[in-house]
Amino acid sequence: MKSPFGIALAGLFSTTAYACESCEHPERDVVLTRNVRRMQPDAQNASSLPRAPLSWGQVNFLHTTDTHGWLEGHIKEKNYGADWGDFVTFVRDMRRKADALDVDLLVVDTGDLHDGAGLSDATSPNGELSNPIFENINYDVLTIGNHELYVSAITYEHFYNFSRHYGDRYLTSNVQVYNPNTSTYEYIGKTHRYFSTPKGIRIMSFGVLYDFTGNSNASKVIPAAEMVNQTWFQDALHTHEPIDMFLLIGHNPVRPSVSTSTLDTVFNAIRAVHPNVPIQIFGGHTHIRDFAVYDDKTTALESGRYCETLGWLSMSGLNSSTYTGCANPAGVTNPTMPAIKVNGSSTATGNFTTSNTTSNLLYSRRYLDWNRLTFEYHAAGSQVSTFDSSKGLNVTSNITTTRNELNLTSLYGCAPQTWCITCAPFLSNGSIYTILTKALSATIVNDTRADISRLIVLNTGSVRFDLVKGPFTYDDSFIVSPFTDGFQYIPDVPYDLAVQVLPALDAGPYEKRSVSPALSRRDFGFYNPSIPEQDDCFDPPSTHAQGSLSKRSPGRIVRRETTVTPGYTTTDDFGTDGDDTIHSAIPDYTVPDNFQANASFPTNGTLPDTVDLIFLDYIATDVLTALSGAGASYTIDDVSYYLPNSFTTNSYLPAYAKQAADWQADVPNCPVGLGVGYNDTATA
Ligand SMILES: [Zn+2]
Ligand SMILES: [Zn+2]
Repeated sequence: MKSPFGIALAGLFSTTAYACESCEHPERDVVLTRNVRRMQPDAQNASSLPRAPLSWGQVNFLHTTDTHGWLEGHIKEKNYGADWGDFVTFVRDMRRKADALDVDLLVVDTGDLHDGAGLSDATSPNGELSNPIFENINYDVLTIGNHELYVSAITYEHFYNFSRHYGDRYLTSNVQVYNPNTSTYEYIGKTHRYFSTPKGIRIMSFGVLYDFTGNSNASKVIPAAEMVNQTWFQDALHTHEPIDMFLLIGHNPVRPSVSTSTLDTVFNAIRAVHPNVPIQIFGGHTHIRDFAVYDDKTTALESGRYCETLGWLSMSGLNSSTYTGCANPAGVTNPTMPAIKVNGSSTATGNFTTSNTTSNLLYSRRYLDWNRLTFEYHAAGSQVSTFDSSKGLNVTSNITTTRNELNLTSLYGCAPQTWCITCAPFLSNGSIYTILTKALSATIVNDTRADISRLIVLNTGSVRFDLVKGPFTYDDSFIVSPFTDGFQYIPDVPYDLAVQVLPALDAGPYEKRSVSPALSRRDFGFYNPSIPEQDDCFDPPSTHAQGSLSKRSPGRIVRRETTVTPGYTTTDDFGTDGDDTIHSAIPDYTVPDNFQANASFPTNGTLPDTVDLIFLDYIATDVLTALSGAGASYTIDDVSYYLPNSFTTNSYLPAYAKQAADWQADVPNCPVGLGVGYNDTATA
């Protein structure tokens, strides 16, 4: 089959850009049925094609953030089935495409490389085997996330190994580490990077972590307000070298109204010296897809999390006397959007020092689903037989080997349906807390007290990711409930008192004040809770394909229907057309701070007089405060471990998977669902 991209490239110098980017659906002209499994052997491929080819400008970016160890891809979710080897190949192809179009492509990452999947978390320190796999991408600039700083051993792995791999491209403008050899704090990477792109754009770049305070004492995070007054930063701003563009990356929310974001502080400091130089921002940490307009020369992209999203940003209109590339590459669409919020009255998003000249800059942004179908679609010359590269295949097979070495595929049972954190109402049939309640009742049992009624209170934040239908493996034990908090208890608490603990914890300030590193490791955010608006260009009648579209795709002909699948539906400052693949919305329900299981209650339906009150060890003092608020006078001396402290929040779900009859029924041939948001709730 002739690839449409072969045609597009052949026509590079003869075709012009099309007027209505969002109305183009060349995919509808071509059958793109592919059945290739170069991802991890057990992964699935997506069935929904991207909405349209990407727009290319003078300078273009691919952006990853918050990958959290998901380099194997989402093996049980078809929308996110590509692995890091597929991404390696895709980056190679996109760099070639940039060369062919005579424009720049920069690849950027904004941190949080571990704590999320077995590939990173099953080693000690975690990231030991996943970081070298990650390093197969030749990023142009990267920065550090808060998850690189909780555990000193991980921080040192980044200092001694990761930062050396990337050299002056690893930017940690406000993060230092204690170097025991010199007895001083040193920057983990570099403070800034001044460089020229291959096509001659002169860039000053910074990498700024939000004002994070949960780090171990091996590192030091300098608050942004302090950093912008430091000599090196002011020197960088006042350099005599010409600067065509600032590239501000940060593990830092891009939405200025998010209180933790410090990007506005850095933005204002740059604007104070350079009122009219374009500033391009890439952020992360809140795990959402987002795009914010700061002023008419500044936009900021955030590209989700967990290898579900690959961010794309292109811009043109940049003034640079040294730029040797093409201003508006031909044969592809070009950016069309000025930096103006489509739904706002003013370009300024916050209390910003904004630029004071008119802007010729035009932008486009897109959030790509992390799957092979997407990568093949957007890669130049992406015929199946040529998509794979030897380097990509090596990375893929290295991931497979590493997963096997770490026993990540070791099977505990089959999750008979998908249970999620927020896509179903709390404690409904599809809610993960429903199955966890059942699992806790069955597995939190001290044999010497098995007959004694018990209440088990857990923080909902002890769960990190949805439990997806299919094999439940050692890997999934890290994905779903990775933390290692032990189970403590107070024996024989009057039931009337014990039942007051859960509502007191939910209502009180207790846990907010005592959020442990384990909990803050969860970061936050799930699906962007935006309601999709109907896209005018969505699903036009088939006759549309007989108009202008067919003229530029002479080789093709059959339209193949693709179904709309559940997934991201994003609203940002440019509107609702940012998602590269059109999805139906996944609901987003709120979840209280805590949930509770019980066990060994009287079989006659009456309530027990007393219970063993069981809770996670790190909230013991909060539980005591809650009990005291209810009129009881327990002390820490009344608290002890209910189970050995080696049995943790990471243990009970594997234990349940091994004993539940419905989880064992199909072992070892577990039926696999399609992913979160698909209706595969068990009927049983
Ligand atoms: Zn994160
Ligand atoms: Zn983070």
